Amino acid sequence: MTKYTPMIQQYLSVKAEAKDALLFFRLGDFYEMFFEDAIIASRELELTLTGREGGAEERIPMCGVPYHSADNYISRLIDKGYKVAICEQVENPQEAKGIVRREIVRIVTPGTVMEGKQLPEGTNNYVACLASVEGSFAFAACDLSTGELYVTEVEAEESLLDELSVYSPSEVIGEEALLNRVRTALQGQAKAPLYTVREAEDPEAGSFFGEQEWGTLGQAEKKVVSVLMAYLSETQKRALAHITSIRRYETNQFMVMDPFTRRNLELVETVRERSKKGSLLWLLDQTVTSMGARMLRRWIEKPLITRGPIEERLEAVECLHNQVIVRDDLRSALKEVYDLERLVGRISYGNANGRDLVALQHSLRQVPALREVCVQSGSSTLHKLVEGMDDCQDIRAWIEEAIVDEPPVSVRDGGLIRDGYHEYLDQLREADRNGKQWIAELESREREKTGIKSLKVGYNKVFGYYIEVTRSNLHSIPEGTYERKQTLANAERFITPELKEKEALILEAQEKIVVIEYDLFQQLRGRIAGQMDRLQKLAGIIATIDVLQSLATVGAERRFCRPVLAESGDMSIKAGRHPVVEAVLEERAFVANDTELQMNEGRIMLITGPNMAGKSTYMRQVAILSIMAQIGSFVPAESAVIPLVDRIFTRIGAADDLIGGQSTFMVEMMDIQVMTEKATDRSLVIIDELGRGTSTGEGMAIAQAVIEYLHDQVGCKTLVSTHFHELAHLDESLPHLRNFCMAVKESGQQVTFLRKLIPGAASTSYGIYCAQIAGLPESIIQRSYTLLNAFEARAAVQHAEEEAAAAAVQLSFFPPEASLSEAKPGASGSKSRELEAARYNAASDGKS
Ligand code: ADP
Repeated sequence: MTKYTPMIQQYLSVKAEAKDALLFFRLGDFYEMFFEDAIIASRELELTLTGREGGAEERIPMCGVPYHSADNYISRLIDKGYKVAICEQVENPQEAKGIVRREIVRIVTPGTVMEGKQLPEGTNNYVACLASVEGSFAFAACDLSTGELYVTEVEAEESLLDELSVYSPSEVIGEEALLNRVRTALQGQAKAPLYTVREAEDPEAGSFFGEQEWGTLGQAEKKVVSVLMAYLSETQKRALAHITSIRRYETNQFMVMDPFTRRNLELVETVRERSKKGSLLWLLDQTVTSMGARMLRRWIEKPLITRGPIEERLEAVECLHNQVIVRDDLRSALKEVYDLERLVGRISYGNANGRDLVALQHSLRQVPALREVCVQSGSSTLHKLVEGMDDCQDIRAWIEEAIVDEPPVSVRDGGLIRDGYHEYLDQLREADRNGKQWIAELESREREKTGIKSLKVGYNKVFGYYIEVTRSNLHSIPEGTYERKQTLANAERFITPELKEKEALILEAQEKIVVIEYDLFQQLRGRIAGQMDRLQKLAGIIATIDVLQSLATVGAERRFCRPVLAESGDMSIKAGRHPVVEAVLEERAFVANDTELQMNEGRIMLITGPNMAGKSTYMRQVAILSIMAQIGSFVPAESAVIPLVDRIFTRIGAADDLIGGQSTFMVEMMDIQVMTEKATDRSLVIIDELGRGTSTGEGMAIAQAVIEYLHDQVGCKTLVSTHFHELAHLDESLPHLRNFCMAVKESGQQVTFLRKLIPGAASTSYGIYCAQIAGLPESIIQRSYTLLNAFEARAAVQHAEEEAAAAAVQLSFFPPEASLSEAKPGASGSKSRELEAARYNAASDGKS
C-alpha cells in the first residue's frame, strides 16, 4: 500500500470499510471511482474510463461523475442492484493540514433509499432480514422511508418465502447459509438482491426500543431485529429515531397464501407484465393519499381471519358506500394531505426543508375537517377511529408561526422564517432593511448634493456598493469625501466612509440572518422530530380512512354487495363476478355465476369443460371474493355468504410457471404436497387442470387420489377443474363432491362459450343440455340421455375392472401420509419394494 500516493492510500482505507459497495469518493466537484469500482461503474453507467497516476507502476483505472448530478447515477446503480457508498470531504479543504479528511457518510442500498424514483409513492420500499436461532426462524422488514418495522417468527424455513412474497422487499439481508437456501428455493425468481451480513454478536437493538417492547420478542425475533438495525445503522450512519416501534405479528393472524397463490391470483401485480394494472390492487385502489395506497396494498397482501376487525371495516365501508356526499367530503379533504409518513421520515432524517414543513402544516390543517366528517358519517368504526385521535394541531401552529407561506427550497439561504417569530432576527432584518433603504435613497441624495444627474449607485461582488460618476462630471464631485475605487473607460467609481459603514452593517446582518434562520429552522425541525410517534399514529389513522373510502368508492361504482361472514363454513354466492375480468370486459359482458360450497354436502366442485370455457376465471373468482371479503371490501355479487378462510391454496397452471429446470408437473406435485400437509377444513383449495403434464393414465390416477384425499382427510372447500371427463363418476363414491361444467352452445359448426356454470359433467350433460336449450324435440333429448346412460354404464364397468387391477398391484401413486419432498426409502410402498428387490438381488448374487 505504501507504494501509493497518500490520497490513494486514503481511498483504499475508506474502501476497506465498504467492500461490497461502489465507493463514490469526493474530490472537489466530482465523485471519483477507482480500480475495480471504476471498471464496473464505467460499464454500467457508460462513463469514459480513464487512468490516474497513483504511485504504482500501472495507472489506476478511474472514472467520475459531477457531484451535482450524482443522484441520477446513484439511482441507476441501485436499480441494477449495486450498493453505493458516499464518501465526502468532512473538513474544510482550506483548514486541512495535508490531505483533507474523508469519510463515508452513507451507504445507499436498494432497500434503504430515502428519495428518488426507487421510491414509488404508492408502494412501500422494504429491506428484509432473515435469521434463525436453534431451529426457529424470524423475518423482519423495514421501510426506512416511513419508519415501519415488522417482525414475525415462523416455525418452518419455507414460511420465510411466504413472508418474502408478502413484502416483496427490494433487498434481503441475513446469514449466508439462510440466504443461500432462499436463493435456491426461489430459483432466481427474486427480483431483490440478497446480501450476506455479519451477525450481531448479541442482541443489542434492545436499548433502541423500550424494554417492554423488546421483552415480548422471541430469541429469533430479537436476533433478526438486531441484525437489521445494525445494518441500518451501518449504512445510514445516523440515528434512526423515526423507527419508533416494532410491529410484531403472528403469521396465523392473517390468511396464509404461498407465493404462487399470490402471483396466480394477481393480487398486486399481473403474472405476465408484472404490472399493477390488471391486478386486484389496481381495481380496488381509489385511494387519494400515498399513505392510503400503501396501506391498501398491505391489506390486500394480508387478509384478516378474525371476524371482529373485518366486520368493523365492512361497517365503515357500508356506511360510506351508501353516502356519496360523505365519500366526496372525505376525498376532498384527503386530497390536501401530503405523504405524512415520508415527510416524518425526512424530518427525522434531517432532510426536510421549509417546503416539507409547510406541506406538513397544510396536511395537519385538514385533520379537524376529516374528523368532523368521520364523526358525522354515522359509522361507528369511523367514529371510533377519530374519537381519541390526536390531531397534532399544536405542531401545525408551531410551523404556522415560524415558517413563511412559500419558503425557498434551500434552508441555508434564509427567507424561511416569518417576521415576528424571533426578536433578534427581526432586529437584524430591520437593520438590513434600513441599510438598504439608506443606500436606495443615496442616489437621489448625492445627485441633489452634486448636481450630477447621471450619478448612479451600484453593486458588484468585488467592490461592494459604489457611486459611479461619468468622466465628464468628475469636476462636480465633492472635495475629500469620495474615495476612488475603480476606473472604467468612461466613468470612475467611488466609495464613501459612510457608504462602507452601511454596507458592513448590511452584510453582517445578512450573514447573521442566514445563520439564525437556519438555526431556528433546525430547532423547529428537531422539535417536530420529537413528536414522531404522534405524527406516525395520525398518519396511520388518515391512511385507514383513505383505504375505507377507497373500498367504498369502488364498491359503489361497481355494484358490489356487503358479504355476510358465515360461521358455519358454508359459502353461498349468488351471481358472483370476477371483478378484474369484468372491469376489462365491455360493459356488462361478464356472465355472473353462483357458488355453493357446503361443508356437509357439496364442498368439492369438480368442473369439466373445454378450454376457454371460463373454468379458471370462475375458480379464481371464488378465491378473489374470499380475499375481498376478508380485507373488509364489498364483493362483486348479488349476495354473498362467505366463510372465513384460513388459507387459500391455488394451483393454477400457466404457461410461464416453469421454474428453473423443474417441469410444470413436478412443480404441481410439490405444491400439492404442501397443500396436503397444510390445508385444514377451513381452507379453500383451487386446482386448475389437475394431473395434466403426465400420461393420461397417471394423470387421472393422481387426480382421483388427490381429490379423494381432500374429500376424506382434509374436508376443505375445493374447486377442481379437469379435462378428464372420466373423473365425473367420482360423485358416486364421494358424497361431498358435485359435478359442474361450463355451458357451451353448439349450433352447426359454431360453438359459443356461454360462460355459465351448470350442474353436471361436461361429457355427459353439456352437449345434451345445450341441445335442450337450443330447443330440440323432447323425444330426441330423452333418447340421447338413455343412450348416454348406457355408454356410461359400460364405461363404469370397464373403470371398475381397471381399478381392481390397479388395487391388485398395490400401486401407490400418492400415499396420503408421505410427502414428496421427504420421500425416504421405506416411506412409500413402492420405494420399499424397490429396495427389497435390490436387497434380494444382492443377496442372491452373493450366494451364486
Ligand atoms: P378456461 O380456464 O376454461 O380455459 P378461462 O377462464 O381462461 O377459460 O376463460 C377464457 C376467457 O373467457 C377469458 O379470457 C375471459 O375473458 C373469458 N371469460 C371467462 N369467464 C367469463 C365470464 N364469466 N363472463 C365473460 N367472459 C368470461
